[in-house]
Amino acid sequence: MLDETVHHAPDLERQLLRRSVLALAASRDACRGCHRTPLVGERVHLYDDGRMLCELCRRERKETPIRSEPVRGNEHGNAVRMTDQRPGGARRRVA
Ligand SMILES: [Zn+2]
Repeated sequence: MLDETVHHAPDLERQLLRRSVLALAASRDACRGCHRTPLVGERVHLYDDGRMLCELCRRERKETPIRSEPVRGNEHGNAVRMTDQRPGGARRRVA
């Protein structure tokens, strides 16, 4: 029975979800080039007209940003960067 409800208006639900996700993304600083929300710790570049570009998009343009800064963590804060610290671990291959 639950299935029927789910299948009843999938498009509408998907639209609403999509819209809220987009709204969420828009409320944060998204890259103007690729519309991606930069990751915490990633360097972003701000331009005098208010645009923000991520590192990757910035390289494709010749303009000089007025400001460059790393993305700070949001309210969740404690992103942990995983680094492979095993000796020789990065080279190890799984057969
Ligand atoms: Zn970008």
